[in-house]
Amino acid sequence: MACAVKLRLEGERCAGHGRCYELAPDVFGEDERGHCRLLREDVPAELQEQARLGVSNCPERAIEIESD
Ligand code: SF4
Repeated sequence: MACAVKLRLEGERCAGHGRCYELAPDVFGEDERGHCRLLREDVPAELQEQARLGVSNCPERAIEIESD
């Protein structure tokens, strides 16, 4: 079984494009300004593909996968 990965959000970099939470709605959510909010920091195996999709589509590189 794959290990859980951790997500890190650099809130200052987030510009609120919403790509992360549109592509990965089980991992990322939006706050009242439309900026990213982590729904979970530890991502279980079944959501890792979704998490990576969100991370790789953030134009501001505001979210990172910390560990694998
Ligand atoms: S895609 Fe990036 S910049 Fe856009 S809301 Fe998500 S974290 Fe913020």
